[in-house]
Amino acid sequence: MTAQFLPHPGTGELFTSPVAAGSGWPGDPATPDTPIAHSCADVVAEAAAAKNLAELGARISVCRACPRLVDWREQAAEVKRRSFADQPYWGRPLVGFGDDFPKLLIMGLAPAANGGNRTGRMFTGDQAGDWLFRALHRAGIASKGEVEYAGDGQKLFGARMISAVRCAPPDNKPSVDERDCCAGWLDAELAQLLPWVRAVIALGGFGWDATLNAVRRAGGTVPTPKPKFGHGEVAVVHKADGKPLNVIGCYHPSQQNTFTGKLTEKMLDDVVARGQDLAGLGWGCGGSGR
Ligand code: SF4
Repeated sequence: MTAQFLPHPGTGELFTSPVAAGSGWPGDPATPDTPIAHSCADVVAEAAAAKNLAELGARISVCRACPRLVDWREQAAEVKRRSFADQPYWGRPLVGFGDDFPKLLIMGLAPAANGGNRTGRMFTGDQAGDWLFRALHRAGIASKGEVEYAGDGQKLFGARMISAVRCAPPDNKPSVDERDCCAGWLDAELAQLLPWVRAVIALGGFGWDATLNAVRRAGGTVPTPKPKFGHGEVAVVHKADGKPLNVIGCYHPSQQNTFTGKLTEKMLDDVVARGQDLAGLGWGCGGSGR
């Protein structure tokens, strides 16, 4: 099939779907020479070889280790939802977005096929992300309340968004093997971030478990029995250096939760405020607070 070039909604530059590495997409950390992981063993090796967060992000963004997820994300990119048929789709794994030295982390599950998988940025391009960014903006953590595409000028202050799985999965459900494979990237990213992080807002039970499991793998301690996920629940775990880390549970801002009223804006604001407080981000918008 001949590659179809469509204009990026922000810059107007033409891109294929999926986007070729290093072809000019806003925020693309990769180049055509970035090494590609083709297996879970490759993920571990490439993650270990990355010298810094930027290099790690580049390697994540071209990963092809999970055949089912690669097929799914690229098929979604090529077929496209009708309402986005005039746009190119990123169609690649997503890298963390926000501060490189965050005090607060927001841990999600995985990108949405027509959201982050389209825009190329975490929580950008779907209703769940709109809810989250608006709440972060109300708290002074995000520079803008509205997000549309990578390159729209959005910034996070003292916070970073990451997800346990970096590719859009069918039905938003990665398999256990896929989750475990992608944990190689997650662990490497957390190794660079955790020294700074004081609090994590974990979205849904998946984000909660992914956080606690990652803390354990990183040499930290988690209470036994494992703290149960609940909206507004706070678990105090300890990092490998012995310092406390507050993990705050939050219902995922999916349509299933927001349309039914299970999660309201007030509930989300309260959790963000709690995370902000526990992370020591009491300074509002405009600085890293490091
Ligand atoms: Fe690679 Fe993670 Fe995507 Fe699997 S889910 S292909 S490990 S980035």
